Amino acid sequence: MSQQGYVATPPLSQAQPGVSGYPPAFGVPPSQAHFGHYGSTPQSHPSPPTAVFKSAASSGSSMPAPPGPGQFVTNGLHNGVSAHGFPPLTSAPSGSAYPPTSYPRLAPSSASTQQLANQMSAMQMSGYGHGPLQGPQLTTSSVAQPISQPPPPASGCPLTAQAPQMGPPPPVSGQPLMSQSPQMGPPPMGVSSAMGTTATASPMGMPGSFSGPLPSPGSSGFQQPPGPQGFPPQQAGPYAGQMGGQPGFPGVFPPGAAQMAGPPQKKLDPDSIPSTTQVIEDDQVKRRGQVYATNLRGQVPPLVTTDFVVQDQGNASPRFMRCTTYSFPCTSDLAKQCQVPLATVIKPFAVVPKNETPLYTVDHGEAGPIRCNRCKAYMCPFMHFIDGGRRYQCGFCNCINEVPPFYFQHLDHMGRRVDVYQRPELSLGSYEFIATLEYCKDKKPPNPPAFIFMIDVSYSNIKSGLVRLLCSELKTLLERLPREEGAETSAVRVGFVTYNKILHFYNVKSALAQPQMMVVSDVAEMFVPLLDGFLVNFQESRSVINNLLDQIPDMFADTGESETVFTPVVQAGMEALKAAECSGKLFIFHSSIPTAEAPGKLKNRDDRKLINTEKEKTLFQPVKGVYEELSKECVSNSCCVDLFLFPSQYTDVATMGSICLHTGGSVYKYSNFQAQVDGDHFLRDLRKDMEKPIGFDATMRVRTSTGFRATDFFGAIYMSNTTDVEMAAVDCHKAVTVEFKHDDKLSEDTGALIQCALLYTSIGGQRRLRIHNLSLNCSSQLADLYKSCETDALVNFFAKSAYREMVNQPLKTVREILVRQTAHMLACYRKNCASPSAVSQLILPDTMKVLPVYMNSLLKSAALVGSADLSTDDRAHHRLLVTGMGVEETQALFYPRLVPLHNIDMSSEAVPAALRCSEERLSDAGVFLLENGFQIFLWLGQACPPEFIQSVFNVPSFAHLSPDMTSIPELDNAMSKKLRSVIEHMSGQRSQAMKLFIVKQKDRSEVPFRQQLVEDKGLHGGASYMDFLCCIHREIRQLLT
Ligand SMILES: [Zn+2]
Repeated sequence: MSQQGYVATPPLSQAQPGVSGYPPAFGVPPSQAHFGHYGSTPQSHPSPPTAVFKSAASSGSSMPAPPGPGQFVTNGLHNGVSAHGFPPLTSAPSGSAYPPTSYPRLAPSSASTQQLANQMSAMQMSGYGHGPLQGPQLTTSSVAQPISQPPPPASGCPLTAQAPQMGPPPPVSGQPLMSQSPQMGPPPMGVSSAMGTTATASPMGMPGSFSGPLPSPGSSGFQQPPGPQGFPPQQAGPYAGQMGGQPGFPGVFPPGAAQMAGPPQKKLDPDSIPSTTQVIEDDQVKRRGQVYATNLRGQVPPLVTTDFVVQDQGNASPRFMRCTTYSFPCTSDLAKQCQVPLATVIKPFAVVPKNETPLYTVDHGEAGPIRCNRCKAYMCPFMHFIDGGRRYQCGFCNCINEVPPFYFQHLDHMGRRVDVYQRPELSLGSYEFIATLEYCKDKKPPNPPAFIFMIDVSYSNIKSGLVRLLCSELKTLLERLPREEGAETSAVRVGFVTYNKILHFYNVKSALAQPQMMVVSDVAEMFVPLLDGFLVNFQESRSVINNLLDQIPDMFADTGESETVFTPVVQAGMEALKAAECSGKLFIFHSSIPTAEAPGKLKNRDDRKLINTEKEKTLFQPVKGVYEELSKECVSNSCCVDLFLFPSQYTDVATMGSICLHTGGSVYKYSNFQAQVDGDHFLRDLRKDMEKPIGFDATMRVRTSTGFRATDFFGAIYMSNTTDVEMAAVDCHKAVTVEFKHDDKLSEDTGALIQCALLYTSIGGQRRLRIHNLSLNCSSQLADLYKSCETDALVNFFAKSAYREMVNQPLKTVREILVRQTAHMLACYRKNCASPSAVSQLILPDTMKVLPVYMNSLLKSAALVGSADLSTDDRAHHRLLVTGMGVEETQALFYPRLVPLHNIDMSSEAVPAALRCSEERLSDAGVFLLENGFQIFLWLGQACPPEFIQSVFNVPSFAHLSPDMTSIPELDNAMSKKLRSVIEHMSGQRSQAMKLFIVKQKDRSEVPFRQQLVEDKGLHGGASYMDFLCCIHREIRQLLT
């Protein structure tokens, strides 16, 4: 408990009591569960003029509540946050408490963050309405600004300093964007991006965009991709006013530039600020197709967006584990100082591609896996054999253990066992052990899991065509139930329930000629009316089951029942699994908020007036009581709940989904479902869900070497104590984010070792242990930490932290913390790792240079944005989804992939290079595809080529396209095939079947698409990337002075 300071300091890292199922915060008494130390400055707030930017800030902070559409933080409630200072950080009470190299202004920064938040509000409210915002603005003073040269690698830190291009030349259309910097070095060879009205498929992200041959590794800067094309003024589209605007922040970047209106304002060239697509492209160029061998400690893997092949040589593949940094600071003081979270995102069941070696299985028979006597870590490459092989020292706790006689082996001259390469557990990062009965419930081998299909047959689901569609599809899907690798048939047993406000169980025993229905109308005391014949083997009962599936739609065809129950349904499924002594999954297909008289009855609590108030968080807090109890029971009975929702109005997703969240399940939502329109999307989701690799009755334990430990866990999990992560089931897409804290000093010599052990029951009913090991570096230099950071993993951590916190804190506080911590991490780098340079320069570590764009996207994500235009259920759903996500998923969600199609190379298999997510990259004559892992949009410009429209939609022109299209017809021509194959390729990479939207430029349907253009100002509030970067830069400067 001693070291809780630093991780608690970023308040997002605190476990919060009160989130059901989570352990109390590590060492943090509930009263501090508020971000006392961060939310500190309410007082600084009420009066307008505290902020520096008078115009913006004053207008913002004095702005009364009425939110405008473009507003980020809409009312004055920020004041209510709390008035505790900034304790943990400043437990070093003032700057002087820090060692000289440290970062003295931390404490006061709380005020400045508050200001920043104000400014953000102000910015959003006023930034676009004022003055000379439209169009490029140039000032001569900007030219005078130093364009930053990447400073020479500082103190062993060859990271890059990027500097802001303060004064790019006026982005006048047609004029080459030459880099201003005289120091820029070699003539830039960047490729112009496709923008304006002539978007092309030319890859944005050629390596050249950082000015020619890089002077030194990592010295990328914000150099302009100088290109032949200019930068047209804002498009005058329907959103032009709010989306392309420039920061109304005079003087943000340049030093000393006047802070008031008056002096010329700068128009920064969007190409000059760090580009995510560029970073992705650079990594692909550098590492695509390469073999990534995991033999080195602390090695930073390729990005999640890069295709590479993993060769396990002693550390877990990055597919299983990714870290926020691969070099931990040696001391907690350093960790506190930089506020970079130390975390790993573990996806224990990640799919291993076919061109990589699947996990080996180790079977020690009755002896079971070999484990350290003291810390119980499993045998792994981090154990050191000594004494001629008779004993080994545990790499985690240093305990000396005897080698069991059956496991003895001689050592070679290097001190390694001679069988090291014959044993996966001695040479690989990931492998499995067959578990013995010791690892089984009641010391009995488990039964294979079961799937129970529970279909709401109330009026709404019948009328939408869902029940008929589903029953018909199940007949096919049941033929393809998942099975153990190598097994001929599936061991999974199946059962069926239908319900509205009462439940109907079906006996589908193979001996029966007809299925039998048993009705339970007393939903208050749920029980399962039959044991024999309820859960059956599909192969044996195929004809009875198919008979049942044929009958169900007709049986309820004339139903008038519109009320439903919910928790009794879950309870029934759970009781059935319990009675059958097996784990399993409930597939619940549900239509509406459960209002029938029964346990778990819910009422509409979607009070829109709460949005943007202190109480907004209550909208996302699940109703406790029955739901909480039931979640717990489901976990202890290994009952995973997947919920497919088909609502036509509010259903309290926050509460209903909480059961899925804690049982390792998923929530799918199809609003206003119509079988003809949405059936295909739903069925693709259902197939993916049923067929995906999954383990049941899982417990995960994360062990570490001495000096640090896992303290906090985020995911679709349940925890009844502080160390064991329980999951009724865990599938290949679910990831648990684990945060670490120091207990003591870490050693640069031994590094930091992490072992994740997952005990689970396989789909075939075998009890196994899956082990993932990872070794990280430790350093007493912060530069090493920054050099080894992974932005995508950081974003995953911050998203999950923020989404957990948003049920405990006002959303505004959560957003402030995100802003503050972003600035703090970057300022700390600047202070400690970058070479000296003018404070006016924005200098970002190379590994974090696109962190701001992701953080800004997170800040304006549906869950956090606080807009009355978004449905509460959609926001709650978004929150639940993210909680279980891995790094790939959060990357795609917070920076969607935008791909131009109008001049696609038909001969190439490759998906065209992505463009930055901004309206400026679109063009009237273009066609673009955008995907974020859940949705995929085909955007058609008004002037897109008629030939394209003809080939793809079989109509003569844009004007002939119906606005209601939801699918692409299968036409026999090259363009149509190409487009469909690109979409299919993208969908294949994602965990869900993405819903396709066909969007016509300037049509109403554009709104959800435009929300995805994360570099632009948010439609529902939230800053543009440019504005956000200005804010962050400002905040950094305040922290530094
Ligand atoms: Zn040990």
